[in-house]
Amino acid sequence: MAQRQKVVVVGAGPVGSLAALYAANRGHDVEVYELRSDLRDPSTTPLNFTRSINLALSERGLNAMRNAGQPKLIDHVMAATLPMRGRMIHGKRPNGDLYEESQDYDVHGRSILAIDRGGLNKRLLDILEEIPNVTFFFNHKLTGADFRRNKAWFEVRKEAGAEQSGREIEVGFDLMIGADGAHSAVRYHMMKYTRMDYKQEYIDTLWCEFQIQPQSPQGGMSKFKISPNHLHIWPGREFMFIAIPSEDGSFTCTLFAPAAVYEQLEADTQGGQISKFFDRSFPGVTSLIPASELVASFHQNPHLPLINIKCKPHHYSSSVVILGDAAHAMVPFYGQGMNAGLEDVRILFGILDKHALMDAASAPEGEIGFSAAANSAASQRERALAEYTAVRIPDAHAINDLALQNYIEMRASVLSPVYRLRKFLEESLSVYVPSLGWQTKYSRVSFGNERYSEVVAKSQHQGKVLVRGLVGAVGLPLLSGGIFVYFRYRRAVEAGLRELLMSLATFVQRS
Ligand code: FAD
Repeated sequence: MAQRQKVVVVGAGPVGSLAALYAANRGHDVEVYELRSDLRDPSTTPLNFTRSINLALSERGLNAMRNAGQPKLIDHVMAATLPMRGRMIHGKRPNGDLYEESQDYDVHGRSILAIDRGGLNKRLLDILEEIPNVTFFFNHKLTGADFRRNKAWFEVRKEAGAEQSGREIEVGFDLMIGADGAHSAVRYHMMKYTRMDYKQEYIDTLWCEFQIQPQSPQGGMSKFKISPNHLHIWPGREFMFIAIPSEDGSFTCTLFAPAAVYEQLEADTQGGQISKFFDRSFPGVTSLIPASELVASFHQNPHLPLINIKCKPHHYSSSVVILGDAAHAMVPFYGQGMNAGLEDVRILFGILDKHALMDAASAPEGEIGFSAAANSAASQRERALAEYTAVRIPDAHAINDLALQNYIEMRASVLSPVYRLRKFLEESLSVYVPSLGWQTKYSRVSFGNERYSEVVAKSQHQGKVLVRGLVGAVGLPLLSGGIFVYFRYRRAVEAGLRELLMSLATFVQRS
């Protein structure tokens, strides 16, 4: 086991909570500092409204939780999720009929899982609370950090019974894990110590949440108005509407559209334009969400931007590392933001463990002094963090790019014949020629644990092989047919070609 260290985790979202669990299981003294109040406390504001309530959890997130050494966690997750086996595409035929078309995610029948983000976060906090070497500090905002002296400062925002907030405390640490989200304060302070490349980009899309209420008890057999085992998509080319099921029979829906569309609709205080827009763009939605609710949600719920962040490195020296959205916030179109963040935790601790083991194996026999041991732990951590940055950055960048590309797939390509042909060919090869090891990119991302950068490389390779195969399959017969016709009807073909060339020459001269 690694030497006992003081690990300070900033941010008690899903990624910070899982990181705290991994650190605590290794026997470290863990302190978790969170800007907000405890989300399990019913007297405080419910889960932050600026985050989607229902998320798609898939293999990478599950794998990270499976490896957390807490069977209770994975049991909870499996009990609290709804499997979504595919996309349900909603649309309207030219004759005006509405249709639903199910597109399975995976030819082997695997599903992604719909989970309540707040429920998962609460469960993680409950488990952490039972561990003696973990201490929570809610309402503590990181305001400063010195990563050479391993000191950080937190503003205590609201204390029980206190009239005022604003007291500042100083905290020392061996390792700080920054899991404080897209607008990370840890990353901001880290930039003062390391030459960090940083790129942030807002895409021209805003999102807003809506709800499909459960079917009324008198209304029918099921509490769900539409299939509970699908992620529903109303593709709109320039925009889209999606719905993810919840256990209570409701669906959390999200409208993704360019800012200009929002601006037009915001001006419509009466709401007539909003329901017309939905009827025109997302056929069938107004029969699931009454127009009055649509309009109310549109005006009441925030219209939020989508940010894409890439940075490098993800650590500084032996003292700090950033994970999750703090390191690689991405647009939500691959359903991978939280999954990738949870995977960060598994990979980071895997690398830390490996270096601890290597050092233990090479350490000289006998006792070493306290400061020598602390120095050796720090240098071991520094090597591990450097390896983590080197391994994880190509993958973080790869999934950020894939997430951006998938927006086009979700709102437009799902309707394209070329997209469907490629999916069909790749899936058929995966089933009928398993030795080739072919899978769709989606399957590799959502149902496997291969590095994201390898997924991209393999998918590009498959694409090239498919194009070559198709050119061979279609082009070769055409070419051989042409050669056969030429030799069989040589005179007629040559006469025809001569005439064609003469007509072309005359046409060129005239023009
Ligand atoms: P966060 O959840 O942002 O948590 C950060 C925590 O740090 C917060 O609790 C915050 O209060 C705290 N904090 C911030 N600043 C400070 C400070 N200075 N001091 C102390 N604490 C601080 N991901 C998926 O995997 N699947 C999906 O289907 C999916 N759908 C999404 C849909 C939408 C519309 C959006 C916007 C995102 C979606 N995501 C999805 C992404 C997912 O929500 C995030 O990737 C995930 O929540 C990131 O977790 P995190 O713990 O890194 O950060």
